[in-house]
This record gives sequence, structure tokens and C-alpha cells, in this order.
Amino acid sequence: MAHCISLEAEKILDKQFKVLDKGFIRLVDYMGTDERIVQSARVSYGKGTKTVREDAGLIDYLLRNKHTSPFEQVIFTFHIKLPIFVARQWIRHRTARLNEISGRYSVLKNEFYVPSADDLAFQSSDNKQGRADTAIPKELQEEILSSLQKQQGDAYEAYTALLDKNIARELALINLPLSTYTEWYWQIDLHNLFHFLKLRMDAHAQKEIRDYAEVLFEICKTVTPLACESFERHQLGGVNFSKDELEALQNLLAGKDTGLSEKDLNRLNEKLKTGRQL
Ligand SMILES: Cc1cc2nc3c(=O)[nH]c(=O)nc-3n(C[C@H](O)[C@H](O)[C@H](O)COP(=O)(O)OP(=O)(O)OC[C@H]3O[C@@H](n4cnc5c(N)ncnc54)[C@H](O)[C@@H]3O)c2cc1C
Repeated sequence: MAHCISLEAEKILDKQFKVLDKGFIRLVDYMGTDERIVQSARVSYGKGTKTVREDAGLIDYLLRNKHTSPFEQVIFTFHIKLPIFVARQWIRHRTARLNEISGRYSVLKNEFYVPSADDLAFQSSDNKQGRADTAIPKELQEEILSSLQKQQGDAYEAYTALLDKNIARELALINLPLSTYTEWYWQIDLHNLFHFLKLRMDAHAQKEIRDYAEVLFEICKTVTPLACESFERHQLGGVNFSKDELEALQNLLAGKDTGLSEKDLNRLNEKLKTGRQL
């Protein structure tokens, strides 16, 4: 039969998976499973599913060789609740379809993201887009959290005061902060979801969007476990080497000097040690 159902995915349909303090991800629907990837890849031969082992091998081959179109045959629809500053990063992924709650139509809820004390961090000195590892003193944590909450409370009070004066909802909201929660339906195919996950599960991505990406990946595993395994092996857990780096590694294996400058060699070492794309 061409219609595909995953029993694991059926079990979690409509279940809310909590993310951050007030957000969630819910799998609303899906179309296709690992089986659909295999069906569509084999369409030219007129053959359907074989054994799980053969299917796994085919999926792994397709992913490893970037034969991506069969992965576009699997579609996910998620309902996601997320702070606006996360949504701004998320929306940069253009290869998806979405519909967001309208603050022009509805009154927005008094819901704002407040980081946990452990997630508060100083600015990193070596990564301009990152956080430092140094611990924040407890008194400072408390001061920051209460200041964030006060600003959010004040902003919401000002918002409702404008609504009480019958000011248009689309104007009343303009001073609400980026920590305000929004909601959307987000639909994406598996190929583009993997692209999103590769970028947003990476250590360079901001912690808050990474938390969402990690939950998305767990949900995705219930629909396409074999494809997720291959994705983890070849894309998530792998790194690319430049031509120079490849030559350096070949030289090393042949017992020769790498031929790299000290700076490039350090970067290659770091890449090999951490498994991160640098
Ligand atoms: C750690 C991190 C830091 C970032 N920092 C910044 C930042 O400081 N400022 C900022 O503005 N953005 C930033 N971004 C966003 C980033 O530049 C991308 O916009 C975002 O990751 C989406 O990637 P994408 O375009 O590949 O994805 P998608 O939009 O999903 O596109 C997928 C692929 O489709 C193709 N594609 C889609 N649309 C087009 C098009 N119109 N023309 C040609 N090809 C297209 C491309 O091959 C693309 O890779 C950051 C992203 C990350 C992960």
C-alpha cells in the first residue's frame, strides 16, 4: 500500500513537547515515512519496499550521495509556540510554509520568555555571537531575572492600557518585547528539515533555537527513524574538509608534513577533536 503510517508517530500526534519555559512543539500531521522515501526512490524501477535492511541501505546511500529529492516527499506540519526573538531566526529558513497567530486580530497573551538562572551568561570574548562559560554570581542572576520580568510586566500593562482605550490591536502591540511568545503552524519537508536541524542543532546556533531543534529532531525520529539515523551519521555528526585540509590529512597518513600553516593546522586539529565545522 502506498499510504504510509508510523505507529511511533501516531502515538505522539497532538502531544505537546515542552520547550523553554512556556513554549512547545506539537506534531499536527505528517505525510510519508521512511517507506515513502524508498517508494519514491524506487519509482523508476517499479519496485516497492524490500527488507528493512535493504531500505536502510538505500536511504543511507541516498543521503550520503545527496540524492535529496526522495526526502522532499515526506512532509511534517508542526504547531510551535516560541518567543519572537527565536521566531526571527527561524523565519530565515525560507523553504517552509507557515501561518502565524495575528496580533492584529487577537489580543496577545501575557506570556514572555524568562531564561532560567543557569542560562544567563556573560558575553563571550572570543565568539562575537556567543556566550561565555564564566558563571554569573547568584545575586546578579536574581537582579537580571527580576529586571527582565519587571520590564515584561510593564510592557504588557502598557499594551492592555492602550487596548482599554480602544487603540487598534495592531498599534497597541508595537512596544511588546522580543521575549513575547508567538505561535505558528510550520510545514516543511524532510530534506529542508534536515538542513534546518544541521544549522540549528549546531553549537554555533543560539541555545534557545537549539532547544527547539533538538525537540524537532526527536519528533522527526518517530516518523523517519532510518533517515534520521543516516542524517546523524553523515550530516549532523560529520564535518566537511577543505581541499587543503584533505591534502594535509593525506600527507599525515603518508607520514609527511601536513603543509599547513600553524593557524590552519590548529583549526584542523580543533575540527577533528570537536567534530565541529570550523
Ligand atoms: C549560527 C547562525 C548564525 C546566523 N547569523 C545571522 C546573522 O547574523 N544575520 C543574518 O541575517 N542571518 C544569520 N543567520 C541566518 C543564515 O544566514 C541563513 O539565512 C539561515 O540559516 C537560513 O539558511 P538557508 O538560507 O540555507 O535556509 P533556507 O532559506 O531554508 O534555504 C535552504 C536552501 O535553499 C536555497 N535557497 C533558498 N532561498 C533561496 C534564494 N532566494 N536564492 C537562492 N537560493 C535559495 C539555498 O541553497 C539554501 O541554502 C545565521 C544562521 C545561523 C545558523
